[in-house]
Amino acid sequence: EPEKPQKSPGLLGRLMGRAGGTAPRRVLDDDMLEQLEELLIASDMGVDTALRVTANMAEGRFGKRLSTQEIKELLSAEIARVMEPVAKPLPIYAKRPQVVLVVGVNGSGKTTTIGKLASQFKAAGKNVVIAAGDTFRAAAVEQLQVWGDRAGVPVLTAPEGSDPASLAFDAMTRAEADGADLLLIDTAGRLQNRADLMEELAKIVRVIRKKDETAPHNTLLVLDATTGQNALNQVDTFQKLADVSGLVMTKLDGTAKGGVLVALADKFGLPIHAIGVGEQIDDLAPFDPEEFAAALTG
Ligand code: GDP
Repeated sequence: EPEKPQKSPGLLGRLMGRAGGTAPRRVLDDDMLEQLEELLIASDMGVDTALRVTANMAEGRFGKRLSTQEIKELLSAEIARVMEPVAKPLPIYAKRPQVVLVVGVNGSGKTTTIGKLASQFKAAGKNVVIAAGDTFRAAAVEQLQVWGDRAGVPVLTAPEGSDPASLAFDAMTRAEADGADLLLIDTAGRLQNRADLMEELAKIVRVIRKKDETAPHNTLLVLDATTGQNALNQVDTFQKLADVSGLVMTKLDGTAKGGVLVALADKFGLPIHAIGVGEQIDDLAPFDPEEFAAALTG
């Protein structure tokens, strides 16, 4: 007879067996700490952060007997504590238009996230304009137009291969003329030639500052949860290319539980403005540290 499929156990389920809260208590000793560290590392948290989280969790409790449920709660509370300071929605300024530059590698979910953000802000009564600044990818421009239509927001485009900075300048002019609250600017994400990309982003910033010397007001880096530890390198790289002010992590609806977010919070402390939880327009959620920590340790 075929075995009944079982719900795959979470981090602690795997450590303590399937008995969950009724499992016998285990002594919190070096052996158990090491196993907890390994589980956290396997969730993409990275070694340094995993060691710090387990050490903090064990402080004052070493040698005590704990149940699975107690360990889960302690670990979850420790992770939530690390994440709380970075859980911040995108700040909204009185500035009109507020200029949000969106950066990230191709495929990370930039286009989708811009569409979702535009829709959310539109629903909140904001006047939003999108600029399709990745002028070298015709498919990206088309896709952005689809999202703009869905959100009911105008998308400014330029002919394929034209200067993204000049499009950004035109978009500033249009956003100002329309009295737009928010201008979302998409950018290229090819990292093959970093010097070119850096110059392209710098030029966009230079040009929009001719219109408003305080712009861009936010530089949002979009990261894909399924790339795991690679997200750390991407933050590192994009911080050198642009003045990243906050993060959005996409694809947290899949199998990736996004343990790398803990490493990111620990290492960079950048605000996490939102998370992508699906491919539909409403699938953008605020980042909730407690929910996240519970899912990660569940
Ligand atoms: P871009 O190249 O960075 O502009 O990336 P896209 O926005 O085109 O997204 C790349 C792929 O990821 C598309 O198939 C999207 O539908 C998908 N995607 C984006 N965000 C999410 C998300 O939060 N969850 C899931 N499951 N898929 C996503």
